[in-house]
Amino acid sequence: MIKLYDTLTRKKQIFKPLKKGKIGIYTCGPTVYGPSHLGHARSYVNFDILKRIFLYNDYKVKHILNITDIHDSMIKKANELGITIKQLAGKYTPLFLKEVEELNIIHADKYPRVTENIPEIIEMIKILIKKGYGYVEEDGSVYYDVSKFKKYGKLSGIKLEEAKTGTRVNTDEYKKESVADFVLWKGWKEGEPFWNSPWGKGRPGWHIECSVMAKKYLGETIDLHAGAMDLKFPHHENEIAQSEAANGVKFANYWLHGGLLDIENKKMSKSLGNYIEIHEIKEKGYSFTALRYLFLTSHYSSKTNFSWKSLESAQNSLNNLYDKIRELKTEKNKKTKNKKTDKYKEMFLKYINDDLNVPRALALTWDLIKDKDVSNKDKYKLLLNFDQVFGLNLKEIKEIKIPQEIKELVKQREQLRKENNWKGADLIRKEIEKLGFQIEDVEGKSLIKKLNR
Ligand SMILES: [Zn+2]
Repeated sequence: MIKLYDTLTRKKQIFKPLKKGKIGIYTCGPTVYGPSHLGHARSYVNFDILKRIFLYNDYKVKHILNITDIHDSMIKKANELGITIKQLAGKYTPLFLKEVEELNIIHADKYPRVTENIPEIIEMIKILIKKGYGYVEEDGSVYYDVSKFKKYGKLSGIKLEEAKTGTRVNTDEYKKESVADFVLWKGWKEGEPFWNSPWGKGRPGWHIECSVMAKKYLGETIDLHAGAMDLKFPHHENEIAQSEAANGVKFANYWLHGGLLDIENKKMSKSLGNYIEIHEIKEKGYSFTALRYLFLTSHYSSKTNFSWKSLESAQNSLNNLYDKIRELKTEKNKKTKNKKTDKYKEMFLKYINDDLNVPRALALTWDLIKDKDVSNKDKYKLLLNFDQVFGLNLKEIKEIKIPQEIKELVKQREQLRKENNWKGADLIRKEIEKLGFQIEDVEGKSLIKKLNR
């Protein structure tokens, strides 16, 4: 039994799939005009965990993630660079897919592109016009009349009464909290890419793509729609308005929203210029898995703060975990499992199935590591089992082969220490670190560890 906090009903709900043992998930994907930042990364990791939890519960998961390759910001950026939007998307779509792999995220089953779904988009807009929800303006733009959709605002809680009649939004970059008719199809402007439509040359508005792609790949009603909190309004509200008006049925049975990420206690914003792009993590000497570990330490729905200090401590915890794994892996003792291991598995499942309480499950993992009643063999097995959800690549952790060169240096250092030559010993320690290894002095012995970065 999986419980999820559904942001539409504002309650924790027991998940019931449309088809037994299966779940269809739709998540809003990136606009491919630049590298992803840490806010994106958190959102991708959050919903990867969601997916892994369903897989862990033996569900068959179908996940659709759209790629927005036509958008105001795509056009602006392409113009700045003097290239086509196709060239721009050709640069940043592969980068996004690479970022997904670097964060050890399970790939979506399909990454539909907007530009490959224009006929389907036109089709849905035609239905919306026919049903009286869409209207055409002189410039060939088509708008959605929000006053026609009586349930408008049900997700975000925004009141329709506050709508100013005749207010329209034409840009893809929207102002928060203002209810207005939104654009489904944008009439063509000089210098912009276009497709032919019954309303003349133009291109789709931003919101329509998700309604179309969810329907095309998952059906008129889908199990679960997820996205970051800042997409709730107007984007998701508009998706509901489009889909439910066009299809005449409920759009998504469950809605999940991920909390936003602050940077050093400040809201991420263009004006502050405090966006950190994913690749900067590696450049500063941290691993992408450490970033993933950091995200696991807070609940997906809560607002979280990123600081370099918190990443440093996540990297240390991860390194410790890897060291433990190496230790446990070399354990030769073949003790059979006791009741306590089942208890751990039970607790783990209980936590993750309770609205994805991964921070609690991660804390349980450390309790397990410290538990003297569980054999090392069993610990190792359980950790690999839990890692199906965490995705920290624990299976890949190899026993360390210490090169001869390092062994020699360690011997020299031990000799110098015996002679009380601390300065010399310290120089060798630094030399060893340069070569990617670390020495720890435990009970008179030198323990050699590999530096994990
Ligand atoms: Zn969307």
